[in-house]
Amino acid sequence: MSQIAELKALRGKATGSVGLVPTMGYLHDGHLALVRQARDENEAVVVSIFVNPTQFGAGEDFASYPRDHERDLALLKEERVDIVFVPPVEEMYPAGFCSGVEVGRVTERLEGVSRPGHFRGVATVVAKLFNIVEPTRAYFGQKDAQQAVVIERMVADLNMNLEIVIAPTVREPDGLAMSSRNIHLNSEERRAALVLWRALSLAQQLFSQGERQAESIRHRMSALIQEEPLASIDYVSIAGAASLEELATIEGPALVSLAVRIGSTRLIDNIVLGG
Ligand code: AMP
Repeated sequence: MSQIAELKALRGKATGSVGLVPTMGYLHDGHLALVRQARDENEAVVVSIFVNPTQFGAGEDFASYPRDHERDLALLKEERVDIVFVPPVEEMYPAGFCSGVEVGRVTERLEGVSRPGHFRGVATVVAKLFNIVEPTRAYFGQKDAQQAVVIERMVADLNMNLEIVIAPTVREPDGLAMSSRNIHLNSEERRAALVLWRALSLAQQLFSQGERQAESIRHRMSALIQEEPLASIDYVSIAGAASLEELATIEGPALVSLAVRIGSTRLIDNIVLGG
C-alpha cells in the first residue's frame, strides 16, 4: 500500500490494537524480531518501509542505501503482517512541505554531532507515521539506542497517545549487530567489523571486573579499535542511558555506544552497563 488516504481508511476500520514497526526496508532478523513482537502483542500489524531522505545528510548514503522491495514483501507476508505501507517520497513530502519536529538536548550528542539534522528527519517522519497509522504501540530496536531515547522523549513531550516498545539488539552468531548496511561489507571488512562487538565486550568485561572510571574504559575500547587497520573511530561514548551525557564515573545505567567506519561503511552499536 502506498497511499496515505488508503491506509487511513483501512485504519479507521480496525477495532483492536494496532502495532506499528517503522523501517527503511532491506529487512533482516532484527526487523523481523520487532515484527514478531508486534504480531504477538497486537491484533493488527502495520510495517512501514520508507528510506526517509530527510534523515540523511549531504554526502551520506541515501542513494546507495540497500533496497529490495520484493524480498521485503515476501518476508512480511510470512510474518502475517496486515499492512505494508510503502509511500513514495512525494506522498510523505508533497510540494510545499515545510514543517518539522525538533527534539532538543538528547539529539545534540553522539549521532546528532556526527549527523547534523539526522534526528530532525527521524522525529518528523516518525511523528508523521504515528499520525497516519495511529498505532496503539510502536516498536523500535535498541540497536539505534539514541533514536529510541529521542522517540520516547518526543512522545512524552508532545503527549502522543501511544506506547513505545524497545526491543533488544539482534546479532549475528559472532556478535556483529544485524544492520541493512552490513551488505556493503566485503569479506575482509566483515571480519574487521567484529571490532565493534569486541570493544563492547571489553567494556562489559572491565565493568564486570569493577572498573567504574568511564575514561579508562573509553581509552581501552579506542585502543582496541585502533589495532584494526580497516577501522576508523567516529566516537566511543559512555553516557547516562537516559540523559546521553558523557559520564566520568559509572553509577547508574550507562550507554556504551560507538560509531566506527569500516572502509566506507559507517556502523553503530551499543550495550547498556549496570541497567
Ligand atoms: P532501520 O530499517 O535500520 O531504520 O531499522 C528499523 C527498526 O529496526 C529500528 O527501530 C531499528 O532500531 C531496528 N533495528 C535495526 N537493526 C536491528 C537489530 N540488529 N536488532 C534490533 N532492532 C534493529
